Amino acid sequence: MGGDGTEGDMARAVEQVRDAVRRHTTRFEHAIPLIASENLLSPYARELMISDFDARYAEGLPGERYYEGNEQVDEVETLCLDLAKRLFRCSFADVRPISGTVANLAVLKALSEPGDLVGTCRLADGAHISSASFGAFGLRGVKPVYYVWDAQRMTIDVARTREILRAVRPKLCLFGLSLFLFPLPVQELSPTLEEIGARGWYDGAHVLGLIAGGEFQDPLHEGCVVISASTHKTLPGPQHGILLANTDDPDVTKRLASGAFPGVTSNHHLHAMAALAVSLAEHLAFGRAYARQVIANAKALGAALHERGFDVLGEELGFTASHTLAVRVTREGGGEEVARRLAAAGIITNKNLLPGDTSSKHPGGIRLGTPEVTRVGMTEKEMARIAELMDDLLHHGKAPESVAADSAAFKSGFTGLRYCFGAGEAAYRYFDLVGHPPP
Ligand SMILES: *Cc1c(COP(=O)(O)O)cnc(C)c1O
Repeated sequence: MGGDGTEGDMARAVEQVRDAVRRHTTRFEHAIPLIASENLLSPYARELMISDFDARYAEGLPGERYYEGNEQVDEVETLCLDLAKRLFRCSFADVRPISGTVANLAVLKALSEPGDLVGTCRLADGAHISSASFGAFGLRGVKPVYYVWDAQRMTIDVARTREILRAVRPKLCLFGLSLFLFPLPVQELSPTLEEIGARGWYDGAHVLGLIAGGEFQDPLHEGCVVISASTHKTLPGPQHGILLANTDDPDVTKRLASGAFPGVTSNHHLHAMAALAVSLAEHLAFGRAYARQVIANAKALGAALHERGFDVLGEELGFTASHTLAVRVTREGGGEEVARRLAAAGIITNKNLLPGDTSSKHPGGIRLGTPEVTRVGMTEKEMARIAELMDDLLHHGKAPESVAADSAAFKSGFTGLRYCFGAGEAAYRYFDLVGHPPP
């Protein structure tokens, strides 16, 4: 093995990777990124992602590690855990899951057994693939019990779901979505959960930054035992995961911790954990203002698109109460075609299944999110311009190249980060760290 590639060939491969990442970065710098699950790291968080922490292991918890050399890791992780508990007003946090899916697996390992029934929403109603048989649910061998969906209000139908829960009695009930427009009725359903002896589990991957900003709902104080989440969607942190709980049952926290490690991690990406500590501190300082603006922008974008004839879901309720919008684009050519055309015009979105879609291969909608455009300083006024660009492309036949030029010109006014320390630093950067040029 080895030696099959000449040094010259492989140096070119290395350069190709660097060049592609640079081109990608420039592309996003000039685009309007509207992926609801994406965000930008702050300068101080970004710095830690390429620190020596990325070379280390720290199995276990602060103060009880398996390896030596972890004193500063312990200091950072202890601070990270304290900041998490303060931000979410809870008694337990674990920052070792390396992503939202991994955090979900940790919860499933901790609070369910193979064969258990677990309540959740359907994929077409906005659930994440974690609760699919081909995802984390299948891996743990638990079976979904589906809640009834109210497509008009884009949330769970409480009365009809209550009947199902009473009849089927799942052991664990998951609340969480990837197409997350409105708060879920955790508080309303929590007496039923208590009655049937089920635990409430909230997957806050999408809305964690809004919850932390005090602008969405407060699951740990509405009846859920645990929140699992990604830390990089509305919370503008590193790509990582987290568990949060508010319980005085030491058995539950012990199970959650051992679900995280050794259950689903060995190393826990210490560089990302350090970056998360910074992101949590910044959210404690700036998160409320940021969360408010993210939601205000989403509502404004929804209203502007609606005015321009787009079929934005949730009209009755102001289109959204989160960072996300769902737009049915059957008239414009379907989710796949529309997302592709938008990308060619510099507007980055994703096709998305919507309630009522029958084919998972042909989603009827697109999903839009405002975290990233808010992070670079856009407000309601800019949302109206984004709606206009989409209207030009999808309703007035303007060429994608021409809209792409408009998008880039518009974006050039928004290049610095907001809602963080070191605000104004470049939002999109490629770090040239190696001191000598490639061969
Ligand atoms: C994105 C998402 C996840 C998974 O997050 P990763 O960090 O990408 O693993 C889990 N649950 C929900 C509801 C999500 O939207």
